[in-house]
Amino acid sequence: MASIPFRGFRSTTTPHRQFLLLLLSPFSHRSPSSSFCTLQSPRPTTTTTFQNPNRARPNSSSSDQDLSSFEPVIGIETHVQLSTLSKAFCPCPYAYGSPPNTTVCPVCLGHPGTLPSLNSALVRSAVAVAVALDCAVSLRSKFDRKQYFYPDLPKGYQISQFDLPIASAGSLRLDLPLDYGGGRRTFGITRVHMEEDAGKLIHSDSSSSSSSSFSHVDLNRAGVPLLEIVSDPDMRTGVEAAEYAAEIQRIVRYLGVSNGNMQEGSLRCDVNVSVRPVGDPNFGTKVEIKNMNSFSAMSRAIDYEISRQVALHSQGQSDQIVQETRLWEDGAQKTVTMRKKEGLADYRYFPEPDIPEVVLTEEEVASIRQSLPELPEAKRRRYESMGLSMQDVLFLANDISVADFFDSAVNMGADVKLAANWIMGDIAAYLKNERLSINEIKLTPRELSELIASIKNGTISGKIGKEILVELISKGGTVKSLIEEKDLVQANSRSRCDWSTSR
Ligand SMILES: [Zn+2]
Repeated sequence: MASIPFRGFRSTTTPHRQFLLLLLSPFSHRSPSSSFCTLQSPRPTTTTTFQNPNRARPNSSSSDQDLSSFEPVIGIETHVQLSTLSKAFCPCPYAYGSPPNTTVCPVCLGHPGTLPSLNSALVRSAVAVAVALDCAVSLRSKFDRKQYFYPDLPKGYQISQFDLPIASAGSLRLDLPLDYGGGRRTFGITRVHMEEDAGKLIHSDSSSSSSSSFSHVDLNRAGVPLLEIVSDPDMRTGVEAAEYAAEIQRIVRYLGVSNGNMQEGSLRCDVNVSVRPVGDPNFGTKVEIKNMNSFSAMSRAIDYEISRQVALHSQGQSDQIVQETRLWEDGAQKTVTMRKKEGLADYRYFPEPDIPEVVLTEEEVASIRQSLPELPEAKRRRYESMGLSMQDVLFLANDISVADFFDSAVNMGADVKLAANWIMGDIAAYLKNERLSINEIKLTPRELSELIASIKNGTISGKIGKEILVELISKGGTVKSLIEEKDLVQANSRSRCDWSTSR
């Protein structure tokens, strides 16, 4: 069996790296298909912010007693779009929002006779995510063709991974928000596999005229690298599921492999929900929910669906729970039928004959493992060990830029709790008002550290500190020069100090 190197495209996050690939005898792994259709759902458009969801319930509401008699079972398939510089199997770039059909080539347009060539950055990102999720990484995996017809899939098949995914059997740990009772959870990861995205259909608005509507095809997204992360059916509430998805987002952002942006479709979740009587080992009929464009919507959609299914059970109408795909309608706050599944689709998977088997060495996986940054879970545990409250821990570790800012300030000598208070109080308020990220302000971690020290040693009061902070954030400069410039030193700098910071 001959081995050949594959093309290494540049990644935004990792240097070139070549992996050895072994040619695989085609058609040797034909397997029966078992999953179902993943036609694209409409584009998400709203916020990723996870807000307090109120449990949504259908009109024929299930009672709390009914709900407590049933156990919800929730599993999630997450698609993460990787921010590599080029697509998975061709040199085309991808930039969200480019004019339609401008970042395409014969390979991603599916022209006959073209040959895909694997982007090494896809493999490297997949291994990084797999390691971050504590998965077992397969040193040998392969690509398969998943065949179905859809207008945004010009080849007539999607290059994906079927029976030999890049990774499997992992787990994800998280801390639930205190508003929901807090507590730690561990959810299993079934598998992580690599695949390409399809194009997009843009449906014209026919409401303004009586003429028939049209759908336009934009193939810019065709061939963009994706990771599909499949969870075990371990979640039991909408909040657990939304927090699981939020943790996936944090992980890919910490790793720098994706922007994880739900509005742009860089992070898409399909959720499977079923309910079963408490104590019943068998799963109920599962319903898939799509079209949730925020973690908040996800939480509400799942809780609605749980209530809907429990109500049907309680009313003796469990036969009306059928295997189907439902859409979340944010306006109406309910799920509605999108399509009924008449049976499992047969994708006629077979090994992709144009792409050799992906072969990794233990050393390559170890090298990627060593290159990973501190991950959200490790950061939360470290912050906890520094004496911060769970509220502080969750806030600071949520965004890697905020966490980096905090870590830098503390490394420069800032008091841990005071640094957390300033960041979570005045700085966060400023960022929120001005719609900025912490990387976009002129305040540096060093000057925050100086500011805290100046208040702590009594050079300035906390009130003056707040005034200086606004200047530092908006205009930059140093604490020392601002104190001198404005003659702000307290009359008796050692007499009293105001430790307060707003929260
Ligand atoms: Zn292309």
